[in-house]
Amino acid sequence: MNHDLRRAMTYFFRACLLKCPECGKKPVFIPLLRVRSLRDYFTPLDGCPRCGYAYERETGYFLLSIWAINYGGGSLLGIAIYCFLEFFYQLSLPMLLVSVITPVVLFNFLFARHSKSLFLALDHYFDPHTKPDSGNDDGGNVKEPPKNPPPTAPHPTPPREPMALR
Ligand SMILES: [Zn+2]
Repeated sequence: MNHDLRRAMTYFFRACLLKCPECGKKPVFIPLLRVRSLRDYFTPLDGCPRCGYAYERETGYFLLSIWAINYGGGSLLGIAIYCFLEFFYQLSLPMLLVSVITPVVLFNFLFARHSKSLFLALDHYFDPHTKPDSGNDDGGNVKEPPKNPPPTAPHPTPPREPMALR
């Protein structure tokens, strides 16, 4: 099997199990039995307690996971349920709305953790970052040096020395 495909599958299965994408050993979230609030349920840990992989790289990091993966998956599910009910059953509009919206809301709630974990895995696959102790002082992100250095203000030219008189 291709190395990249194997790496992608490894990250995918780790995400399905809500495990750290880097080491696959420690969870991304607080275990369900220890959840005491909605915040505990939805918020990932700061990082992996085993390998130190930072889960939330920056503020709003998981916004795309909610909008694209969670809401996207919910929308596809809603469309599929609607098409199925519309094609096979002739429901009234209120009944149809309840039948479509209820499973979508449940799906969004139950899939919220997985969408964040899948987003972590996707990000780790396409933009892996090394551990902070690897010598980089930029928070672990590997960056190439800029090819064209940004322009700097010109240095003031020193005053010319007077020419020697002959
Ligand atoms: Zn880890």
